[in-house]
Amino acid sequence: MKTETPRRASGGLVAFDGIGVSAGIAVGTAYVLESGIAQVPEFTIAPDAVEPEIERFRAAIGKARRQIRKLRRKAEALPDSVLEELGPLLDAHGAMLESSRLAGGVEAAIRTRSINAEAAVQAVVGDLVRGLEAVGDAYLASRGQDVREVGDRILRHLTATPYHAFSVLPPGSIVVAEELSPADTALMDPSMVAGFATALGGADSHTAIMARSMGIPAVLGVTAVATRVRSGVQLIVDGEAGRIIVDPDPATLADYRRMAEARKRLGRQLERLRTLPATTTDGVRVALLANVELPRDTDTAHHGGAEGVGLLRTEFQFMNRPDLPSEDEQYATLRQIVESMRGAPVTIRTLDVGGEKLATALGERIAVSANPALGLRAIRLALKEPKLLETQLAAILRAGAHGPVRILLPMISSVGQVRAVRTILARVVARLRRRKVRIASPVPALGIMIEVPGAALTADALARECDFLALGTNDLTMYTLAIDRGDEQVADLYNPLHPAVLRLIQFTVEAALRNGIPVSVCGEIAGDPRYAPLLVGLGVRELSMAGTALPRVKQRIRRLAAGPATQRARAIMDQADEARIAALLDDFNEGL
Ligand code: PEP
Ligand code: MG
Repeated sequence: MKTETPRRASGGLVAFDGIGVSAGIAVGTAYVLESGIAQVPEFTIAPDAVEPEIERFRAAIGKARRQIRKLRRKAEALPDSVLEELGPLLDAHGAMLESSRLAGGVEAAIRTRSINAEAAVQAVVGDLVRGLEAVGDAYLASRGQDVREVGDRILRHLTATPYHAFSVLPPGSIVVAEELSPADTALMDPSMVAGFATALGGADSHTAIMARSMGIPAVLGVTAVATRVRSGVQLIVDGEAGRIIVDPDPATLADYRRMAEARKRLGRQLERLRTLPATTTDGVRVALLANVELPRDTDTAHHGGAEGVGLLRTEFQFMNRPDLPSEDEQYATLRQIVESMRGAPVTIRTLDVGGEKLATALGERIAVSANPALGLRAIRLALKEPKLLETQLAAILRAGAHGPVRILLPMISSVGQVRAVRTILARVVARLRRRKVRIASPVPALGIMIEVPGAALTADALARECDFLALGTNDLTMYTLAIDRGDEQVADLYNPLHPAVLRLIQFTVEAALRNGIPVSVCGEIAGDPRYAPLLVGLGVRELSMAGTALPRVKQRIRRLAAGPATQRARAIMDQADEARIAALLDDFNEGL
């Protein structure tokens, strides 16, 4: 929604470009996050745990190295003045990660003292820093800070520690960090955090999704941001253009404040659509539901006029805690969400961790994988650890006694997996009934995410095994095109309008319609008005998106006619060229 372009200040405007992942404009004070970790636990480990502990440490070092290499590659594209400052620093950190003194020292400490890796890292970093300071040379002593930073980087990977610093933020803060995990983002309070900017992260990463669902303007992939911005300076985050402006002059500031005001006005106008149905001009009804990442998102869902929850990502219950939530605890949270939807259906997806969404509570259960996105995640983990799944299913069934729920399974790739879950579900239902526990009656519908190309290609067979399909176009795009959705370096290649992705969507929708079961789209394209004519034209009648995105999608649907949209979708499906597809779609949207 580009309302106007900011006037360029006559003086040098310091601006950095990245990927705008959450539209909106924030003006506030920079708060640069330090990655320091205050406390790490120290405990003794059993002799047979020593080798796995060393493996865990090596995996953390590997991740830290990859992170540095990535930052280094990205830094090459920066202006020389920035590169001169950032390059040597990253090189120094990279060299330390390769250094045998640090890595060898930690491994030796784990072996000889039988302590956990975190404690060993802290001990060795402490020794190295003290050694540097003891020489009495100012330059060497200052290198101690680098050693600490490298140690913290390793510790963050070992503990997957989120930034707890958010609790002390003053209102109007703009968080600036090298990287924010979905768990970090979940801790942000939108009434305090006006916006954020990070050096790493792509448009459909879960961090980006959370920013959109909280309505926090955000720009990711701004390489120099964490080193070039100081805490306390004034910042503008333009989440639409993907740009941050440091210490703006009064004219620029006034321009942006006007743009922010215009956005607010538009938001108020859209609010009038809240109680109106999403019906096309030729009478086709489309159900609009909300994606919910955190319990508080149900307020946004209501505000946007959602007809229910099309995707409840339950991962939040497993993040930022050292242990697993009990059945009672999960039930209490789910019940609260179900009740807050006041009779509207809630589609609860079972745990989808792994890949970039790591849950601290799961710890060792998810072994380190060279390709986490292809590893033990989502339903694969659930079927390997059926107790986890049983506990969650029991909590969902119990919450279903307080309002309508549906169960949704992530990352399904075969009919065998659906059948295995049905067997487990029947067992849990029987156990709860035996114990006379109140559960949903009838047993909730069981649906599956179509987000793996293999699942889309066998959607007809899968549709016979379940009650509804939900197209997860974020992962479907990633796996079809072999492009990491969270990697800003290949963000330009990530394109849900690629004909291969569209054919899989079309095939899935047709399979659902042939089998007489509902199909929805709950990936991020559902919340982008640009895609609405294409999805409606392909036969999709249910869309689930961030509550904040709902009004604009509804407005677009109410302006379009399904007949012409279907014809345009057919024309689009005849194309092989991504640019031509985009042009056909944009041309259709312009006429609305
Ligand atoms: C998807 O992959 O499109 C999806 C909705 O699931 P998630 O974004 O949680 O992976
Ligand atoms: Mg997914």
